[in-house]
Amino acid sequence: MTFESARFESARLDAADPLASYRDRFLPMGDVVAYLDGNSLGRPLAASANRVRDFIAEQWGGRLIRGWDESWLGLPLTIGDDLGRVALGAAPGQVAIGDSTTVLLYKLIRAALDACPDRTEIVIERDNFPTDRYVVEGIAADRGLTVRWIETGLGNPEFGTAADFERAVSAVVGSSTALVVLSHVAYRSGFIAPAAEITARVHEAGALILWDLCHSTGVVPVELDAWNVDLAVGCSYKYLNGGPGSPAFAYVASEHQAVLRQPIQGWLGSATPFEMGQGYQAAGGIRGFLSGTPPILGMLAMRDMIALIDEVGLGAVRAKSIALTSFAIALSDALLPDAVLATPRDPAHRGSHITLDHPGFAAIMPRLWARGIVPDFRRPDGIRLGLSPLSTSFAEVELGARAIAEELVR
Ligand SMILES: *Cc1c(COP(=O)(O)O)cnc(C)c1O
Repeated sequence: MTFESARFESARLDAADPLASYRDRFLPMGDVVAYLDGNSLGRPLAASANRVRDFIAEQWGGRLIRGWDESWLGLPLTIGDDLGRVALGAAPGQVAIGDSTTVLLYKLIRAALDACPDRTEIVIERDNFPTDRYVVEGIAADRGLTVRWIETGLGNPEFGTAADFERAVSAVVGSSTALVVLSHVAYRSGFIAPAAEITARVHEAGALILWDLCHSTGVVPVELDAWNVDLAVGCSYKYLNGGPGSPAFAYVASEHQAVLRQPIQGWLGSATPFEMGQGYQAAGGIRGFLSGTPPILGMLAMRDMIALIDEVGLGAVRAKSIALTSFAIALSDALLPDAVLATPRDPAHRGSHITLDHPGFAAIMPRLWARGIVPDFRRPDGIRLGLSPLSTSFAEVELGARAIAEELVR
């Protein structure tokens, strides 16, 4: 592919794309011409702008305190059930919305560790997202536990295969392991961990697993129930387009709900919040994993994206995601021959973003942003292209790759 043929190719791919028209459902992007960071902050749907405005005018403005009946208080679990059905392979009653990913990691990791006091180790991967590592390190220090690091080299371009990953996990997980914390899709490389196989391996060792789904939810199919996952968390502002700071979700498998106890005992996770009584008693089911007042305004926008994914089907979303990342890799091979691909070439093993490394990338980022080309930068020298299938066109990917190539030779 050359600079000239890339333009024809992107036009051909957009014309043949069965999901192309969904892009019009998002609000215009102002001066941005190629938004390639949908995995850090998804674009707003026009429907969400209306929903938030109407909610403020009619619900908040009109119902005032009377709104705090089940129609508001029930939202964490209602939206959780929808999300579970549409994107997580989770039967009802196992997913709740609320808190940030970081806080939910803390709550579920603490709950899991408290449930197996005889085991002394928490296992986490070296290149996992910083907040996951920091929370694990903090809890381990608090509780006198040992952190065991999985060294997969996921941060390097040559990180190997799913089998290598499984071997690396197996080498560390054992009879002292209480909990394993892993990302399903790696935030930098985009590598998809073999979640079902690893979950089974962790269970063989008698440990629990917590999957961080931040970079898969809404774009890579997930089957929490079928994979026998114990615990999961994920955020809603990436591929669920919930908006800046929209709350995260927690999944607690039904079989664990009666046993696990989360550490932030707040009134809205108690069995009888409005009796204002003495002593905390956890509510049954997933409700017991809530803590304080749910962030209702922050939960509104994700409903529109969950509904849209339901309408389109996650399978179709995944198919376009693979087409977009494949096109991005082909463009990089052709136009950026000196960049190193830090993402699996096999589409079955990558999520919806790719990372390219080049020592010149840090210097060109401000110039790209000034041109309305918005990728992400990941230290030390990676450009990350996050391709959100319902809002990203092939033309945007081509404009992005072209601009990166042009700025590199300037
Ligand atoms: C984005 C992301 C987070 C974000 O955590 P917040 O508490 O929402 O800031 C956590 N973990 C992973 C793997 C992520 O990609």
